[in-house]
Amino acid sequence: MDGASFLPALVLLMAALAGLMIAGRARLWKAGRPARVGWAAGLLGLPRRYLVDVHHVVGRDPYAARMHALVAGGLVAGSALAALALLPPLGASRLYWGLVALSFAVMLAGSVAVGARRMPGRPRRLSGGSFQILPFLLLGYGLGAFLAALSRALLLPALSWPGLILAVAGGLGLAWQTGKGPMRHAITGAAHLVAHPRPGRFEGARETALAPLDLGAARLGVETPADLPWNRLLSFDACIQCGRCEAACPAFAAGQPLNPKRLIQDLAAAMTPGGNPAYAGSAYPNARSVSGASGLHEPLLRGLLHPDTLWSCTTCRACVEECPMMIEHVDSIVDLRRFQTLEAGAVPHKGEAVLAQMRGADEPGGRALAERTHFAAGLPLPRIAERGEADLLLWLGTSAYDLRVGRSLRALLRLLIAAGVDYAVLGEEERDCGDLARRLGDEATFQRLARANIETLGRYRFERIATADPHALHVLRNEYPAFGGAFEVVHHTALIEELAAGGRLALGTLPAGQSVTYHDPCYLGRYNGEFDAPRRLLDRLGMTRVEMARSGPRALCCGGGGGAAVTDIAGERRIPDLRMEQARETGAAVVAVACPQCTAMLEGVVGERPDVLDIAELALRALEAAPAPRRAVPA
Ligand code: SF4
Ligand code: SF4
Repeated sequence: MDGASFLPALVLLMAALAGLMIAGRARLWKAGRPARVGWAAGLLGLPRRYLVDVHHVVGRDPYAARMHALVAGGLVAGSALAALALLPPLGASRLYWGLVALSFAVMLAGSVAVGARRMPGRPRRLSGGSFQILPFLLLGYGLGAFLAALSRALLLPALSWPGLILAVAGGLGLAWQTGKGPMRHAITGAAHLVAHPRPGRFEGARETALAPLDLGAARLGVETPADLPWNRLLSFDACIQCGRCEAACPAFAAGQPLNPKRLIQDLAAAMTPGGNPAYAGSAYPNARSVSGASGLHEPLLRGLLHPDTLWSCTTCRACVEECPMMIEHVDSIVDLRRFQTLEAGAVPHKGEAVLAQMRGADEPGGRALAERTHFAAGLPLPRIAERGEADLLLWLGTSAYDLRVGRSLRALLRLLIAAGVDYAVLGEEERDCGDLARRLGDEATFQRLARANIETLGRYRFERIATADPHALHVLRNEYPAFGGAFEVVHHTALIEELAAGGRLALGTLPAGQSVTYHDPCYLGRYNGEFDAPRRLLDRLGMTRVEMARSGPRALCCGGGGGAAVTDIAGERRIPDLRMEQARETGAAVVAVACPQCTAMLEGVVGERPDVLDIAELALRALEAAPAPRRAVPA
């Protein structure tokens, strides 16, 4: 009997120990609320979800992707093969042991890569603590199993027992770490992919709409870990503490007390008493003090989380986009906000006043709904109520009250008139879409506004809704269907591009050589996948387009979404200043924007900076620059 003969027993022991550790966590998940899970689709789809969807995200960091493929592939293949040695013909085959050794050699290469990434210097976004021990455990198991298998393949008995001793030390250490160490993600990650709360993400859907809250429930929103759906509790345990979310988060970069990685770790730690003493990653910047109390039925807020952490979030989804484990940070943040708003009545700063105005006046500024159309003075703005129908229903949004945004909307109107579009507006019948109320957790106001708007829209005939506000677009397109309103909604940049491409809008070109950089609005880009149409339109205008350091799906938020502009949690810097810094670095003369909130946030940046112009304003300039016979620009 040699060491290699014990390898299958070691693998089974490791599996049993890991199972025991995970069973302890599963008991905690079970305390969560029920959730509907498509088990068959999840189980059948697991290989694809893991090998395609997860690796699509992991692959954005090629080193991490190669490292993970080697170490995980080698570990799983080597361990599975080693277990098969229980079958006598295989256990006696030198060729078979050669294959086992080869698999563990692959794992060994991956383990070296894991260590090299963390030592001697560990990147700031990665966690230390038990994560620094992980490379040694991987090396121990990989090297030990490799030597033991090699001893049988090459008939070198001297390698056998030292190999097994190393493999036992490393292997049992890894299995032990499935309890709450770095290896927890290996099993919980797979379970999370099977029971994912948003399975549509694996079928090419963006699935960015918030789930409606049952307003008749005994408790509104989430106060304790047990208020969360069980598969969300499971998802927190899938976190590998890679820190990609931390690196992407604008609030973290601005020094606000939010770190999405720490947040997920705190949500995982909150399931058990004792808090999060083992966490060894970056803290919340300028962390506010909390009591540290935790447990399945303990309040999360002021226990492990401070309310300022929640309210710092712009709901930009950069963290979600970056997360290789496909964890949904924003859903939990909004669920916690819902409790704060609906049950505790604790919305900070201007937030409560804004919500009160929205409840009383159907509009966050408390202004008369009829005033929304004042921006258009002198331009035709037909009310759909007067005609009953129109080709295009123009949704003006709350920013129409704003003088600056009014200029962008006037440009849009003039483009529509020049293109001969049959448009109309709701006028005083347009209530706020409810986006701000929903992100601030006031689901009751959101649902009331949504139902009222759907009822109004249902009275008229139109083909599409167009809007210059990506937040309204998202809500109307993706969140109203849950309340019975299914509408085709188009963003104004896509509409202008469509009109220009179809020859209805004869755009000239702007001065060649003028450079422009495009700021992707989170709610148009990450939430709705629209990255191309605004860029195609800019290219059509003849400007030289340059990209910022972060653009497209990885764009940095302007800081204005998710109600962050009204809850206004202090940090060290302002998010729009960070974004404008990236715009300045491109050397562009113009930052093209496509969202009223981005316009307001970026125009608020002081000092030397590029001009901030909505794409509609640039398109209007191009229309005015067109040769005279092609122009049809209203005054
Ligand atoms: S949604 Fe944006 S602001 Fe909120 S935690 Fe994620 S990255 Fe940070
Ligand atoms: S939440 Fe996702 S991105 Fe953030 S540290 Fe965990 S695994 Fe990485």
